[in-house]
Amino acid sequence: MAEILKGMPVVKHMKESQLEQVEKLRENGVIPKLAIVRIGEKPDDLSYERGVIKRFSGVNIDVEVFEYPENISNDEFIKAFEKINNDDKIHGILLFRPFPKTIDEKQVIRVFNPAKDMDGMLNENIAKVFSGDDSGYAPCTPQAVMELLDYYNIDLTGKKVTVVGRSMVVGKPLSMMLLKKNATVTICHTRTKDLMAECKAADIVIAAAGVAKMLNGDYISDGAIVIDVGINVDNDGNLCGDVDFDSCESKASMITPVPGGIGTVTTSVLAQHVIKAAMLKV
Ligand code: NDP
Repeated sequence: MAEILKGMPVVKHMKESQLEQVEKLRENGVIPKLAIVRIGEKPDDLSYERGVIKRFSGVNIDVEVFEYPENISNDEFIKAFEKINNDDKIHGILLFRPFPKTIDEKQVIRVFNPAKDMDGMLNENIAKVFSGDDSGYAPCTPQAVMELLDYYNIDLTGKKVTVVGRSMVVGKPLSMMLLKKNATVTICHTRTKDLMAECKAADIVIAAAGVAKMLNGDYISDGAIVIDVGINVDNDGNLCGDVDFDSCESKASMITPVPGGIGTVTTSVLAQHVIKAAMLKV
């Protein structure tokens, strides 16, 4: 039976230092604050937003939600976004995407200050991840994977890690972070010829494909570590990952659950980013 790598102990560990850091900031007159910018009311966005508000209240970081109707004009939105962007009391921004078609994403990206880009969506921040420069803000999910690996003392040096997925939100930045920690990284995608062989050859398999339960025990070698980034809904309407937990658990040495794994850590990484941005104001 594998050791279950739960996200909550990682969150608790991060919370301890975050509370101290926020207290120091507040003593210095800086109240760390995140702006959540949302157009419309997509259930996934609302659920993530609720999670952020709850997690941030636990570490005394302020959150203000700026909500706009789906039919907002591009000009109106850009004006509102610029105001948030230029507000000195707001240290970081979480911007939900995709936008409605009426919004010019390129224009939003042009005005978005990279110093407030808490989820590492801008090229300035992504480039830093790729060059191994820690001064920016990485996308929160791949960083959550790194936090979890670190918390459970999983040494990456020389390990063969197979990442399934090559998106700019998860797979690609995660692969660069793993490389920085001296892992030997294989990145897989829909055109990978023999996914099973690539996964079986790995000491650590990280699934970020967005396909419910696609990696079963046949993909995993005995004793491998399995990290599941996927968040999907199965045929019965239940939340599940990209990994078939039951068949992998019997073969793996360690495995993350869904829910209760990586997704749990993501909002703590977001909090860490807001603290980092606020610290630059002291
Ligand atoms: P994307 O859909 O943007 O990317 C999926 C990637 O997986 C693509 O590179 C795709 O390959 C690859 N892929 C899809 N199907 C297969 C397959 N059958 N075999 C091999 N590769 C495949 O998804 P995201 O990166 O945004 O998200 C990935 C997962 O992580 C999702 O389940 C999402 O819900 C979850 N997620 C979780 C978060 C968290 O906080 N835990 C936050 C963000 C995402 P190709 O490039 O060839 O199309």
